[in-house]
Amino acid sequence: MYYKEIAGQKVSALGMGNMRLPTVEGHDNQIVKDKAQEIIDYAMSHGINYYDTAYRYHGGESERFIGEALKKYPRDSFLLASKFPGHMMVKKGGGVVHFTSGLAGWPDNTVGGIFEEQLKKCQVDYFDFYLLHNVSEKSLEIYNDEELQVVEFVKKQKALGKIRHLGFSSHASSASTIDEFLTKHEGTFDFVQIQLNYLDWTLQDAKGKYEAIAKHGVKVVVMEGIRGGRLARLPDEQMARLRALRPDDSATRWALRWLQSLPEVAVVLSGMTTLEQIKENVETFAAPEALSKEEAELMTKVADSMLDIVPCTGCRYCIEGCPMELEIPKIIAAYNGVKNGDFMAFYNPDEEGEVMAPKRCVGCGACTSVCPQGIDIPAVMAEFTKMLAAPPHP
Ligand code: SF4
Ligand code: SF4
Repeated sequence: MYYKEIAGQKVSALGMGNMRLPTVEGHDNQIVKDKAQEIIDYAMSHGINYYDTAYRYHGGESERFIGEALKKYPRDSFLLASKFPGHMMVKKGGGVVHFTSGLAGWPDNTVGGIFEEQLKKCQVDYFDFYLLHNVSEKSLEIYNDEELQVVEFVKKQKALGKIRHLGFSSHASSASTIDEFLTKHEGTFDFVQIQLNYLDWTLQDAKGKYEAIAKHGVKVVVMEGIRGGRLARLPDEQMARLRALRPDDSATRWALRWLQSLPEVAVVLSGMTTLEQIKENVETFAAPEALSKEEAELMTKVADSMLDIVPCTGCRYCIEGCPMELEIPKIIAAYNGVKNGDFMAFYNPDEEGEVMAPKRCVGCGACTSVCPQGIDIPAVMAEFTKMLAAPPHP
């Protein structure tokens, strides 16, 4: 295992993500504890020191499990990261929140009450890394709330020694959301966790997000490095191109080496479900092996060939003439995400507001006539409307 640093803390370049632990089939909340413990023990004995969980993973059971699993190890032999679930909260008033999803929550649904409960569940006195979960356009209302004071609260916990390093994760649609949050809280966060892989480099503007984070001198922690497994199984034609250069390497190894080539990446999290997966990943992280120029070019070609996307550049020329005032480039970005299997892009356009509802398109064609990319926008709106009417389950 090789190591990198986040604000002076030595971290393993491969981190153990605890959101895809082995579970009883069909029951995501029922972790198969003996199998999961084997994976944690393998990680601990092979140099992985970074363990990432969150309030919501496995319906709240991930925190409980990792607390149990790491209890037998000295506290200073592992680094534990968890996340404050502001992205799934609505405010009730009086500093109290409740959850938007099915989680029951705790009796004390205050910011402090939730934090203390997380420490208890994880059986620790402090978190090495603590993140605000998914700072995005949708959750800013909670994270910027004057009464809840979430950022002030976590800063105070850091001053008290209950948090060693602060960060946030983000599935923001726009890199500027991350940039602005870092600017607003300059000096507060040591790292940002983003979805980063060679496909999302362009598809979700992970490049823009990576550069925005690096600009602030903040480190990057990677999630979805193999895109929920999608990049572990490439079409035969793409795999053949990779094998022509390195006959023995798996698609996963290519994806992880692509990440190793990015200097600001500190930890690559992998939600490892089986011993085989962790063994392969540990081997890949024995030492960094950045891609050669030839390999990097090939990866770009492979990514391009997999991108079944509408080539919108976000120029916004189409917006002005739309009689329905639709946010056309944003709708196309969501369409591209859904089409490429990104479940985070599934959304309810009714919740997003009228400007994000493709079904409101009247097919006038005013947009297509000004689009420099020649995109048949009404056709995209029609197809997206159909897809949203019967979305595949994430
Ligand atoms: S075709 Fe649809 S998206 Fe394009 S301008 Fe007309 S209403 Fe707006
Ligand atoms: S004019 Fe075309 S390329 Fe520009 S934002 Fe609209 S759809 Fe995208």
